[in-house]
Amino acid sequence: MHLYNTLTRQIEPFSPLSDGIVRMYSCGPTVYDVAHLGNMRAFVFVDLLQRALRAVAGYRVRWVMNITDVDDKTIRDSAVGSARWRAPMGEQSDDLRANLRAYTMFFEEEFKRDLQVLGIRMDHFEAMPRATDYIDEMQHLIREIVRSGFGYASEGSVYFNVGAYAQSHSYGRLFTIDTANFREGVRIDADEYDRESVSDFVLWKGRKDSEPYWDFEIDGESLPGRPGWHIECSAMSKELLGLPFDIHTGGVDLRFPHHEDELAQCCAGYHVADQARFWMHNEFLEVEGKKMSKSLGNFYTLRDLEAMGHDPLDIRFALMLGSYRAVLNFTFESLRAAATARGRTQNLIWDLMDSASITESVDLGGAMPEDVAAAFADDLNVPQALARTYEYCARNSDARTDAVKAREVLGALQRINDVLAVWTFTTRPTIDVPANVRDLADQRWTARTAKDWSEADRLRNELASLGWSMKDGKDSYTLQPLS
Ligand SMILES: [Zn+2]
Repeated sequence: MHLYNTLTRQIEPFSPLSDGIVRMYSCGPTVYDVAHLGNMRAFVFVDLLQRALRAVAGYRVRWVMNITDVDDKTIRDSAVGSARWRAPMGEQSDDLRANLRAYTMFFEEEFKRDLQVLGIRMDHFEAMPRATDYIDEMQHLIREIVRSGFGYASEGSVYFNVGAYAQSHSYGRLFTIDTANFREGVRIDADEYDRESVSDFVLWKGRKDSEPYWDFEIDGESLPGRPGWHIECSAMSKELLGLPFDIHTGGVDLRFPHHEDELAQCCAGYHVADQARFWMHNEFLEVEGKKMSKSLGNFYTLRDLEAMGHDPLDIRFALMLGSYRAVLNFTFESLRAAATARGRTQNLIWDLMDSASITESVDLGGAMPEDVAAAFADDLNVPQALARTYEYCARNSDARTDAVKAREVLGALQRINDVLAVWTFTTRPTIDVPANVRDLADQRWTARTAKDWSEADRLRNELASLGWSMKDGKDSYTLQPLS
């Protein structure tokens, strides 16, 4: 496969460091709220990537995605008396860490539900570590960074010394930083900051009243507090995958400061030259041509779209219809188009199953057409892979009446679906047809058999006005609701 590497700013041939096994770390959600469409795009992208590594390149993938359950926002929203506390989280108590866990577990469950309805399989993850379960490892890394001269304690917190680090290492490998912006000696406590504020960032935040904290000691000094956001991923990725691992992923907004700081911490504290060999970032998502925001009224969660009647797999499909490196404009028009395109192939699959007399989901042991595999291998070119899939189906349109060929095409579509995960290979769902619709259809079938074409047409139009389409077979008809 060839993949774009943010670290080198070019497309490079990819092969894993250890034979046949890809170690991949994806920055996961901060579980202070339900994920929105922009987050979904990032998760669908990494799922496609890891599926392609398995199904196209044949690798085993050790996939880790972290759950950020301690940061500025989770602490703010789990605070005693927070308006965001909900009944299913239980009662708040004096145990602030228990409150934080109850609050974040609620959104962690929501997140896992979202992943699954989007076709992302839980058994594809090797681990989904929570940050609060790795506090010891983070503390160990912070001590190492300080011991190596790249960190210092100040007013109860611990900071990363960017100036000292930049003397011996390169800072700005993932995101070009204008050194004129560098404000030496200035410390920043926020987890997120812009590139105009390059300064010493926080590794460990000193305890504040009414906030959960963990004990921490460094050089005999007691520093109760909690980890900064960036240190979480450095420690968990090293602990679970070892350094350097093969691929680190995230949204483009994570390049700086989150990923740059993760990388610097690993080099400073674990004394490695790299945290990961490939860094891959997906671009933003816009909705109806605008940046998604609550104030613009174009902010959607998955549940919002499901409540509007959209199928999550149509949403998954719509989120993959572009290069992951280009801004994706999600519109309701594009969602409808995605639903139609997905439905067309799904109907073909059911027709082929009829043709091949297959009544249950079985792996037909097919092969992915080579040109489709090549498109996936070309930096995950999904639009091209789809275009070639449609061409392949068009070339083999006689499979609808040829049982042997039907099996072959179905087998190929199963392999393509190992990556896309948007179609099903179970039998066509039976549809409840209202009695009046069935009557009209029977009348039309009789008219058609009698070659009374004008009556057959009239009844077809009547069926359409009731929202049904009638498809004529050789000996019988099928009815389908018009979408
Ligand atoms: Zn991260």
